[in-house]
Amino acid sequence: MTQRSVQQVLGGWGNCPVETCHVTSPESLDALSETVSRGEQSDYIARGLGRAYGDSALNADRGVILTRRLNRLLAFDPQSGLLECESGVSFADLARVMVPRGWFFPTTPGTKFVTVGGAIAADVHGKNHHRDGTFGNFVRRLTLLTASGEVLACSPQENADVFWATVGGMGLTGVILTAQIALMKIETAYFDVSYQRTAHLDETLERFAATDHEYRYSVAWIDCLASGRSLGRSVLMLANDGRADQLPRRLAQRPLDVPARLPLSVPFQMPGFALNPWSVKAFNALFYAKNKDRSTLVDYNTFFYPLDGVQHWNRIYGRRGFIQYQALFPRETSRSGLVKLLEKIARSRGASFLAVLKTSGEAGPGMLSYLHAGHTLALDLPNTGADLRRLVRDLDRILLDEGGRLYAAKDALTSAEVFAAMYPRLDEFRQVKARIDPKMKFVSSQARRLGIVEAVCPKPFLSSAPIPALHDRFSTCSRHAAAG
Ligand SMILES: Cc1cc2nc3c(=O)[nH]c(=O)nc-3n(C[C@H](O)[C@H](O)[C@H](O)COP(=O)(O)OP(=O)(O)OC[C@H]3O[C@@H](n4cnc5c(N)ncnc54)[C@H](O)[C@@H]3O)c2cc1C
Repeated sequence: MTQRSVQQVLGGWGNCPVETCHVTSPESLDALSETVSRGEQSDYIARGLGRAYGDSALNADRGVILTRRLNRLLAFDPQSGLLECESGVSFADLARVMVPRGWFFPTTPGTKFVTVGGAIAADVHGKNHHRDGTFGNFVRRLTLLTASGEVLACSPQENADVFWATVGGMGLTGVILTAQIALMKIETAYFDVSYQRTAHLDETLERFAATDHEYRYSVAWIDCLASGRSLGRSVLMLANDGRADQLPRRLAQRPLDVPARLPLSVPFQMPGFALNPWSVKAFNALFYAKNKDRSTLVDYNTFFYPLDGVQHWNRIYGRRGFIQYQALFPRETSRSGLVKLLEKIARSRGASFLAVLKTSGEAGPGMLSYLHAGHTLALDLPNTGADLRRLVRDLDRILLDEGGRLYAAKDALTSAEVFAAMYPRLDEFRQVKARIDPKMKFVSSQARRLGIVEAVCPKPFLSSAPIPALHDRFSTCSRHAAAG
């Protein structure tokens, strides 16, 4: 029998927007297929742990399928590290089981509260993109429940176009059921981190470039309220996998164990005034002053998931929520783009509490995958209504002018025209989508807003640069670059 849906108000991690959706939570493939083929809603979108910031896992007044109960580990080869699991398994659960056995993720986002399905659908990246690329690089095979009810096996060799439309495809090709992932062997659960302060943006970018080959992981916390000569001052965190011979004796006996942490929690939505330019400025000054240059070994939770130590930290932004604006600038324009963006943020009253800068490497084959060689800056911006919309339009304009692009997993406010101008392989994706989902069974609120599920002609209304030039800079597909 078809499982009945429950009406529920949902948001992404930023709680902006929140929408009423009709939610089902199937426990088996049969129940899931039944919902997709005979459910009461006209269309559906899969939802993992809801860590995308905006509306990519929302479907206003329509169907949302929670994958959390599809969370079984299916097979593991301890020789090769090849793991097969259902898509609702979280990185937190995987880490708990796999780290003590000496395996970790080849790349991971900044929270472990994501599902394997969500990580594939967003083709997530970590602090090592410049070395190892995105999560999609390590997915050997997946199975996908398509709109016709068929379970399609896809890999870089088999149904490759569906595979590369699904990797980074934000759930729009169907529901990922299972995946085979190549895990990474580790000697210890620790990372050897060098903290280095820089005085301004140029020094930050130079230090990234100079240390790229030395460190596998790199990230910079950036003080986005600093201006003038201090614009872009940062604390860099550069790291390599910790070796057993580096551990002090008390840790060396159990190199794959990590200390248990008591999670803190933000118990309720904070009032809107708690986070303002003054409190953020004070926090930034303290963070910068506290993080003197040093090297230390830290466990994987501390290095990769510092924010996970505070449950519900998104509540500090209050009921109105916030967005994360993650901008990618290609190498040639990243300095000028970052300067313009940081100056704009420093001038605006949209204080960003968290600003993180990373280096990115070459693009992968995912049709809608986000990263290309350059620099990516992620900013949390409180929802100030019309002011935020204006700020985002200005930031979008800077991005377009500098040949940059936004990350769909973070986006909540961008327009279809801007998105189409930033993603030159959108038509290629749409062709795959039209073939395997002609009646548009899999749709999200974001896909509607961004026009991913219908043809949109890119219009250069926001940009002073010609749109085809943007396509040239980002395209890995010469056919599309030529078509402009
Ligand atoms: C604190 C924090 C830090 C983050 N850091 C990073 C980072 O460093 N790098 C990075 O790349 N991202 C980062 N993210 C974003 C996050 O990794 C992605 O949004 C990821 O997709 C969330 O996974 P989820 O399981 O919560 O998916 P959801 O948020 O529930 O869904 C995200 C998308 O995946 C699709 N999806 C989910 N499950 C399936 C499935 N089984 N089949 C098909 N589609 C599916 C949904 O339809 C939706 O389009 C961060 C997010 C947070 C909150």
